[in-house]
Amino acid sequence: MISIKVELTLKSPLHIGASAPAGTKAVRGMLKDAQGWPYIPASAFKGRLRHTVERLTRSMERSVCDTHHQTCESAQSACPVCRIFGSPWVTGSVRFCDLTLTQPEIWNADYREENAYPRTGYRHGVGISRTRRVAQDALLYTTELFQPGVPLVFSGELQDVETLVDAAWLYAGLQFMESVGSNRTRGLGWVESRIQVLQDSAVITPEQLRQTLEVSP
Ligand SMILES: [Zn+2]
Repeated sequence: MISIKVELTLKSPLHIGASAPAGTKAVRGMLKDAQGWPYIPASAFKGRLRHTVERLTRSMERSVCDTHHQTCESAQSACPVCRIFGSPWVTGSVRFCDLTLTQPEIWNADYREENAYPRTGYRHGVGISRTRRVAQDALLYTTELFQPGVPLVFSGELQDVETLVDAAWLYAGLQFMESVGSNRTRGLGWVESRIQVLQDSAVITPEQLRQTLEVSP
């Protein structure tokens, strides 16, 4: 049985929004748990990692789908990206999990259950019309941010990864994943990752994973 332990340390304020309703000047609200604490939902984590693995496979000159244009239709011949993350026709081999706050230790699960998140900040922005190069009233927005003043670490574990090749792609993708959430071009949500791949509780080294990818189809 193969599993991958993931730890993401935030290097900048995090924003993971529920997207604002179209045509509103809405605050881009954060995804929070019942107590107001931030977490990285499985869907955001999966989406970002898929994008990273797609770029990686392409740079290694493997044939891979471009998610926005076409995806694999057969599980037997699926590219690594569709095999791992799924397509409208293929069920992905990996089930993604939410990443929850694990550091600072003082904000452990017990504390979070009893206490609300201390504070969130806001950043204001103006949408620019690309065609007219002017600010548009309708695109004024406010982004809610978590600016904790201490490094936040989010952790989770991908379980029941089917093959070492899949684990190797995920590992490589996680190494290259630089950000989560949206607004990364504004310097938000940059992460540093620590990853450990385990097979029957034995650690698989990066070197073993690298070799796995070199010989994989
Ligand atoms: Zn594909």
